[in-house]
Amino acid sequence: MEKTLVIIKPGSLQRGLVGEVLHRFEQKGLQLCGIKMMQLTDEILNEHYAHLAEKSFFKRIKDSMMVTPVIVCCLKGIDAVKIVHELAGKTNGREASVGTIRGDFSMSVQENIIHTSDTVENAKTELARFFIDSEIFDYKLSILSFLYANDEI
Ligand code: ADP
Repeated sequence: MEKTLVIIKPGSLQRGLVGEVLHRFEQKGLQLCGIKMMQLTDEILNEHYAHLAEKSFFKRIKDSMMVTPVIVCCLKGIDAVKIVHELAGKTNGREASVGTIRGDFSMSVQENIIHTSDTVENAKTELARFFIDSEIFDYKLSILSFLYANDEI
């Protein structure tokens, strides 16, 4: 099964949406394998948003990610990377479909509730960036046979 990274952004903590966001993933059937609160730094954000380094808004998004601590999560499931990314919705909250997390809770491009990994390769890199091995828990999910058919797992 795949594992993927979710970062619940500072705006969501301010707006009291942490539980609501986690609930979306839990009710879909994704398994929570790691979760912690952490204060992001300029250093880790330079790595995480390296693909945006040339953009005019680079400093602004880094600042917005350091306003308060964030919640980082590791979620597990079959095709978890794609599913979690799709549950988040388009980057711009005003364009994200209703029913997605950004579509339901965001009015902004920048203040868009969560980060989710976009590819399996990036998920591996990003999980290693925010978690050490002992913070990821591979516990048995006793309801697995109610989430998936036998030939799927
Ligand atoms: P995503 O988070 O959907 O994978 P990107 O990796 O392109 O999107 O961008 C990272 C984050 O940078 C976005 O989630 C958003 O908070 C911010 N961002 C992206 N584009 C803009 C923009 N044009 N103006 C302000 N902030 C932006």
